[in-house]
Amino acid sequence: MKLICLFLLVCCMCQAYAKENNSNLEPSFELVTLGDTGGIQDGNLSSFLLRSLSENNYIALDAGSIINGINVGLQKENQTFSELQLAHDPKWQTNGIIFRHHIKAYLISHGHLDHVAGMLISSPQDSAKPIYALPSVNQTLLDTYFNWQAWANFTDRGKKPRLNQYQLVDLTAKQTVAVKDTSLQVTAFSLSHPLESTAFIIEKDNDIFVYFGDTGPDAVEKQGKLKAVWQHLAMLMKDKTLRGLVIEVSFNNQRPDNLLFGHLTPNWLMQELNTFNDLLVDKSALQNSKIIISHIKYDLAKGPNPRDVIQQQLAQANNLNLDFVLAKQGQKLLL
Ligand SMILES: [Zn+2]
Ligand SMILES: [Zn+2]
Repeated sequence: MKLICLFLLVCCMCQAYAKENNSNLEPSFELVTLGDTGGIQDGNLSSFLLRSLSENNYIALDAGSIINGINVGLQKENQTFSELQLAHDPKWQTNGIIFRHHIKAYLISHGHLDHVAGMLISSPQDSAKPIYALPSVNQTLLDTYFNWQAWANFTDRGKKPRLNQYQLVDLTAKQTVAVKDTSLQVTAFSLSHPLESTAFIIEKDNDIFVYFGDTGPDAVEKQGKLKAVWQHLAMLMKDKTLRGLVIEVSFNNQRPDNLLFGHLTPNWLMQELNTFNDLLVDKSALQNSKIIISHIKYDLAKGPNPRDVIQQQLAQANNLNLDFVLAKQGQKLLL
């Protein structure tokens, strides 16, 4: 009896230690929100910067707003870039140094304007960068924007003359590649949306971060694409740690399914996260991850703030005790 008690006590202590140890992990990534809405607020559209804290190089996850997001981050009250060791370049202001020297690549989820407008508009003063995307997404960029009609062709493909500032890199779904000039690796997964969208799984050693472009729920889209991401992540999480994920909630729960147009609500997100949780071997694993909510639609109509409504509905639906954070332009999170 005594032996059994001792055994149980040791087990409890080990579990408590493991949990404590996990929640005390040193942060591995820095995430900066450059744009938090999914429209219609120009100057604050879907875009995030991510870097490993072991380096000063970011990747941009979508590019709806770039310069405006950097400027908000540089405001005194935000101090978002205070720990970044800035490159020395007397020619440029600080926002230009961050933009040109410290953003090394774009990862574009899909070709909708609210995810690329910042990259297009700021391209005349950008430095050479690769654009990583699924082939259909790169093709949309060429056909729709970099075509010498909507915009000059800053890429290395498509309509001549090609300005060769952006190197278009086609990703193959489910194949991992290194992101140039960073220590990060990326694996793309296709997502369901009116045009093909993408989830990017980013890895650095034993740490994982995931960025989801716009996506509808599997139960509505009927393509099982989110399930494929959850399965891959659950497999990776057998020996790696998911530090955080950015995922969209465009509308509140009152939005009918036939008007979702490839987007999520709080209830649909929770259903997807429950599917994910069911696949995990360690059921506490998700509790160590921050779930960052992006793409909330800004609304000009009178009435309650969509952010407040969505935050409240997420809290109500949160049966897994998850750590939800609403993305806010200029915000820096250590994950
Ligand atoms: Zn969007
Ligand atoms: Zn979209």
